[in-house]
Amino acid sequence: MKNITDHLLHQDESFRDRLTTVDEKGKRKWVYPKKPSGDFTRYRNWFAAILLTFLFAGPFIKINGYPLLLINILERRFVILGNVFWPQDMYIFVLMLLAGVVFIILFTVVYGRLFCGWACPQTIFMEMVFRKIEYLIEGDYMQQKALDKMPWNREKILKKGTKYAVFYAISLLIANTFLAYIIGIEELYKIVTEPVSQHLAGFIAMLIFSGVFYTVFAYFREQICTVVCPYGRLQGVLLDKNSVVITYDEVRGEPRGKMRKNEVRTLGDCIDCMQCVHVCPTGIDIRNGTQLECINCTACIDACDSIMDKIGKPRGLVRYASRNEIEQGRYPDAEKPKRFTARMAAYSVVLLVLLGIIGSFLFTRGMIGVRVMRAQGTLFQKNENGNITNLYNIKIINKSHDALPVQIRLLEPQGKIRLVGDALTVPAEGLADGAFFIELDKSQLTGMKTPVKIGVYNANNELLETAKTSFMGPM
Ligand code: SF4
Ligand code: SF4
Repeated sequence: MKNITDHLLHQDESFRDRLTTVDEKGKRKWVYPKKPSGDFTRYRNWFAAILLTFLFAGPFIKINGYPLLLINILERRFVILGNVFWPQDMYIFVLMLLAGVVFIILFTVVYGRLFCGWACPQTIFMEMVFRKIEYLIEGDYMQQKALDKMPWNREKILKKGTKYAVFYAISLLIANTFLAYIIGIEELYKIVTEPVSQHLAGFIAMLIFSGVFYTVFAYFREQICTVVCPYGRLQGVLLDKNSVVITYDEVRGEPRGKMRKNEVRTLGDCIDCMQCVHVCPTGIDIRNGTQLECINCTACIDACDSIMDKIGKPRGLVRYASRNEIEQGRYPDAEKPKRFTARMAAYSVVLLVLLGIIGSFLFTRGMIGVRVMRAQGTLFQKNENGNITNLYNIKIINKSHDALPVQIRLLEPQGKIRLVGDALTVPAEGLADGAFFIELDKSQLTGMKTPVKIGVYNANNELLETAKTSFMGPM
């Protein structure tokens, strides 16, 4: 424990005053991270490959002829796992959104920024796609630095030109995939294959999206995580001493100091080689503790493990651990501290309740939506036989994948229903409008406004949905 206290008392705190990627004059400092390698990098490569395959294949996957995922905000049409959702189902979306927020909070409380390092699209594209291309074309960080300092000669023009051309091509591919999730792969195919003049808006959207992705991955890079993304800023309130984050074990590592040949080492295990800093894509020093800029990318774990291997010390000086684990000096012998805290239990309960509600709504979600309204500007009519009639408009939404012939019947009170025009058939995933009269005997009226209940049936005489409205009658 003495080591921690000394470390905290003597460490240089100036890193807290500004972003590591900004100099004293407020100018951006370009980060040249060293190419990482090691076990975690290898696992992340595989995981990223799976996620990227899934992302790019997603628009081509159909379930019952419907996309896996479609978020068409423009036409307010949403498809999740082949199920069509309408604006009328928006309450389910709101609940899903709430559950998503609670899940993120719970996940972050337990596992810190695991998502940022392993699954965030920004990190995956930046570190697993664009950065790898950069290493391939320009070399590792020292060569990149040298290339940037070089005057614009043939080599530099060729390397930079190739890199940015490949970057733009990939940005275009990402933009197209992104669009496919919004408008559907069929519409995207038309934009790509038909004359631009026929799809000017779609073409402009594609250019804008690809321009944004290109700018993000070629120039903004880690600034998205450190300046733009709100999730990183929430860490301060979400993390606690039991949250597992990538952390430096100062109990083991401090006091740090260079390793000298033939010297009996009395210092901690950190040999101050700076390898963990060189590999960091956000330019920070993990030894300063948990920081907003740390995207938990694991590069520093791999870098430090390789150093520990070389100097014959156990791996894990930088590792996934909670503050409690570090402070209790767990590594490598002591008991695991308790992970499931009261705070986690409370979030878990809220999440389970929300999931239960969403599940029940999804399960009981009707195949159709019905809206009945008395025709505007009409009151009631008296027939020759003394019965009273009211005129209604009906809108029926078909959420299913097949056209739906329907019949409308009066359920309460007793009376007749007369459709205006032909029998209604609601197109698949479509909407049908109709009008009908309800005719009631005077004896059925309970006042000026009598409640009525209408049933919508399918061709097999199954009741699909009911709707309530009122029937106007004389005083
Ligand atoms: S400190 Fe380590 S885990 Fe955090 S961003 Fe830098 S290299 Fe990645
Ligand atoms: S890589 Fe490990 S040993 Fe080297 S400076 Fe970082 S924490 Fe210390």
